[in-house]
Amino acid sequence: MTLTLTETDTAQSIIAHEAAHVAPTYPRPPFALAHGEGVYLYDTEGNAYLDLVAGIAVNALGYGDPALVEAISQQAAQLIHVSNLYHTAPHAALAARLCEASFADKVFFSNSGAEANEAALKFARKWAYIHRQPDPASPPPLYVRAHHIVDKTELVTFSNGFHGRTTGSLSVTPRPKYQDPFRPLLPDVRVVPFNDLEAAASVIWQGTCAVFVEPVQGEGGIHPATPEFLQGLRALCDEHGALLIFDEVQCGMGRTGSLFAYEQFGVQPDILTLAKPLAGGLPIGATLVSAQVAGAIEYGDHGSTFGGGPVVTRAAQVVLDRVSDPAFLQHVQEVGMYFKAGLKGLNSPLITGVRGMGLMLGMELSVPATEAVKAGYAHGLLMVNAGPDTLRFVPPLIIEKHHVDEAIDKLTQVLASL
Ligand code: PLP
Repeated sequence: MTLTLTETDTAQSIIAHEAAHVAPTYPRPPFALAHGEGVYLYDTEGNAYLDLVAGIAVNALGYGDPALVEAISQQAAQLIHVSNLYHTAPHAALAARLCEASFADKVFFSNSGAEANEAALKFARKWAYIHRQPDPASPPPLYVRAHHIVDKTELVTFSNGFHGRTTGSLSVTPRPKYQDPFRPLLPDVRVVPFNDLEAAASVIWQGTCAVFVEPVQGEGGIHPATPEFLQGLRALCDEHGALLIFDEVQCGMGRTGSLFAYEQFGVQPDILTLAKPLAGGLPIGATLVSAQVAGAIEYGDHGSTFGGGPVVTRAAQVVLDRVSDPAFLQHVQEVGMYFKAGLKGLNSPLITGVRGMGLMLGMELSVPATEAVKAGYAHGLLMVNAGPDTLRFVPPLIIEKHHVDEAIDKLTQVLASL
């Protein structure tokens, strides 16, 4: 039998086919989405949903942005794929523009956040391999030099951190539920509490290759780092010759009200990873590296068949144009503050905390956050949890104050129904 599933098929038949044929890695609600416009999504039955998820912090420009659609269509007609064996203008232009906008000297493109972090890990290991030092406590006899070099392989990561699901990125994602079934993972990973500088100081040493940290933790429950923590990590990395890696896959590209979240902490990393919103919904990952890290990378060290293809890098330039505009960032800050104030003003005994920066907000509940997510569907509200008890709000960055009013209204009803 040939399947003819299109967006006009009923939710029931789509859900039945998914249940039969799609690997069960995600639980999904009982409707199927068909199209989007602005900050709203519509299901196959025509029901509208105010979208506070944005494809999990991806669709920064919402749905149907004319410039984005135009760029993707034009580029698709001109050239979809040639591999990384060849030069193309969109690839070159996006790399140049990301370097110009940041601390970085060079960029490697891939297809997802996890891949961006895999590249970060490999580039850091390569840099550390070159820069490992003789152990001063144990001067080497000339004929066994290798035994007296301190291996510079250790990775430091933090509680509640999330860096992806590939084996390398999972190794620095310290959650038993995600890690335990897949052991053994990478060795030499040290895990310390987030925002605890003293604990970090106790594990960062000459043998540390890199420190992996999200300036604002996303999946772990929307926890911003303190400026002192990130500044302290920078100092510890400098002191011990380790690399500082900021994972801005979720919090980067305008989400917190600055183009890169690190700008608000007064610290620059050696490596920065980006993904989710970078190409406006098309799959992309980017690993931005400083000149010193770039100096360690040679032909053959890493690669990707699809990474940085013409369509995604052309789309990303549209996103970068828009989100790097100071007026756009001002909008994110203003609507973010308005949203946060609205959440704080909600009068429900179930709310135990509100936190976050820009349009990356979290509301902690005394009941499982998934209960609120499920209740939201009936009210035309899309939300997602971050950890078991936090509702996460990462809407399209084009959301306006009147949408926030609508969201707060619906959320009031959702909370009252629990
Ligand atoms: N890093 C962070 C901070 C993330 O939030 C995520 C995904 O949620 C990832 C990495 C992994 O990205 P991807 O799902 O695109 O592999």
